[in-house]
Amino acid sequence: MSDTLKTRLHRKALTWAVALIAGAAAMVLALLLLLFPALERVYLNQLGSREASTLGLAVEGLNGSLRRFEALPGLIAERPDLARALRDPSDTALIDRVNADLRRTAEEVGLSDIFLIDPDGLTIAASNHWKELSFVGQNFAYRPYFTLALAGQQGRFFALGTTSGERGYFFAEAVRDTTGIVGVLAVKFTVDAFEAAWRDGTNDIIVQDDAGVIFMASRPDWHFRSLGPLSDAARDAIEATKKYPMDQLLPLQITQQPFDERFRHLSITGDDGQTERFIVQSQMIPEAGWQVSLLTPTEQAWTRAMGTVALTALLLLLVGLIATVVIQRRMQLQERIRAALSMQEELEHRVTRRTAELKEANRLITQEVEERRAAETLLRQTQTELIQAGKLAALGQMAAALSHEFNQPLAAVKSFARNAAAYLDRGQPDKVRQNVGMIDDMADRLAAISTHLRNFARRPGEKTEPILLNRALDSALIILEPKMRASGCRVDRGTIDGEIWVLGGQVRLQQVFVNLLSNAVDAMSDQTDPLIDLSIDLENNRVHVSVRDRGTGMTDAEIAQLFDPFFTTKEPGKGMGLGLSISYNIVRDFGGTLEGRNHPDGGAVFTVSLTLAEAPSMAAAE
Ligand code: ADP
Repeated sequence: MSDTLKTRLHRKALTWAVALIAGAAAMVLALLLLLFPALERVYLNQLGSREASTLGLAVEGLNGSLRRFEALPGLIAERPDLARALRDPSDTALIDRVNADLRRTAEEVGLSDIFLIDPDGLTIAASNHWKELSFVGQNFAYRPYFTLALAGQQGRFFALGTTSGERGYFFAEAVRDTTGIVGVLAVKFTVDAFEAAWRDGTNDIIVQDDAGVIFMASRPDWHFRSLGPLSDAARDAIEATKKYPMDQLLPLQITQQPFDERFRHLSITGDDGQTERFIVQSQMIPEAGWQVSLLTPTEQAWTRAMGTVALTALLLLLVGLIATVVIQRRMQLQERIRAALSMQEELEHRVTRRTAELKEANRLITQEVEERRAAETLLRQTQTELIQAGKLAALGQMAAALSHEFNQPLAAVKSFARNAAAYLDRGQPDKVRQNVGMIDDMADRLAAISTHLRNFARRPGEKTEPILLNRALDSALIILEPKMRASGCRVDRGTIDGEIWVLGGQVRLQQVFVNLLSNAVDAMSDQTDPLIDLSIDLENNRVHVSVRDRGTGMTDAEIAQLFDPFFTTKEPGKGMGLGLSISYNIVRDFGGTLEGRNHPDGGAVFTVSLTLAEAPSMAAAE
């Protein structure tokens, strides 16, 4: 697979993975948005439950105030001055005293107003008598608390003060003397302080009366508004009792729907067109006929639900991102492993290829070696055959030389035999013996020639083994001893350290040295003090044995033919020209070489080089 194709496939896989993660995240997000209303509902429920205590506190506060002031009119009404003043309202001193008394009491108990009303509804004394907007002289016959109190019941009523313009709660009780009810004592407490406290919280609180009119609210612009239109009867009753200002009795623009058994949804669109949403919970104050409602803005729950969705989305995004990064890393890692594997594969391929090439090269070399070996064998064979052929060719020469060599002694033998016969006939036995002795010499000479010929006819390849060089040299010198003595030749052997073992054959090597030493003696035949230098040099695994004489040396033409069979410069009867030729072949059979050259200081040097051998073990040597 090509690299670009791999990269494209890798990218495609990555795009798929990312798309899959993005799709999953989008699905979860969509699900969350779908679940958003339920989530908001849960938070709304939590919110409402948490704020229930706020509603409880507000109701408790109101209830407490109501209960506190409820008993007050009855107590104050029992003061005798009040009934007296009602009986004689013209007694200004008494009225003044009652006014002062009421003012003090109002201040002490924290009431807004305390006032005394005669049976016609006219206020004859009041705690606010000294104020500009005093109740004194005002007629409250239209107020229900007055009519109820006058009828002997406890009057209670909430209304906007027609004189003061302040909203307040009125309690009223009948003032009695011995004759019965002579008037009414009413007290009023304002609710502004409650509202001020409510405004501090995050919630809104409204209090509706039995007709549904909001008479208390944490927001002043909701005063006298209602959550829905008022019935005509209710409006008439309000108008009759001058409870609220009729022009302000307007319903709020709302939509309501139930949430659960405790809460309900409420949205209020203000005069500015802005809609606010609340979760509402209510509680009744039955004695007063009030419904206290706590309006908690739903915004908080919405924000929290939104926050949860956003947080989840963020988390999803983060998880998606991490997953993408992890997947990408994994893919990169896989890609790297794949690359490494393919590289290894390629390497293995290369190694296999190279091994095959090497094997082939090896095979070719082996083949070449085989061919060369075969060629060499052929060459050797050819050489051997050539040598043999050469020998055959030389046979003609040899035959001629032989006939010459043999004819001469044979002719001599013949003549010595004839002479012997003649001397025998003449009865000269000494002469006969002399001639027979000469015949014997001739026979020896013929035997020597025959021995040479036997050596020459030998084929190479006889066994080679470790032999002692020293011994071969010693034997050769012993053999030549008589010849040396005859010619007065000395041998300088130099010094040889220990035994030197070489590869060869004992008798054949000895024959080589005999030849070389013999030639050296011959070369110095006309010298007065012939001397032969015999030296041995070791070099690596070779040993060089040199035989140097101080004769006339050799011409270049002679050097060129030295090792040719039957090459001789010696006079007939002295040499056959086979010694060096045979020696050359012997040394070559040992794996050595034989060289002949002139010494710079005169004379000839013949050097035999042989391969050194390990001394055989004692047992083998013996
Ligand atoms: P032969 O000794 O029978 O002549 P060789 O093969 O031993 O046969 O020697 C061949 C020839 O090499 C000799 O005739 C001679 O001319 C030459 N020759 C050999 N050894 C020496 C030497 N030490 N000094 C000079 N010439 C030599």
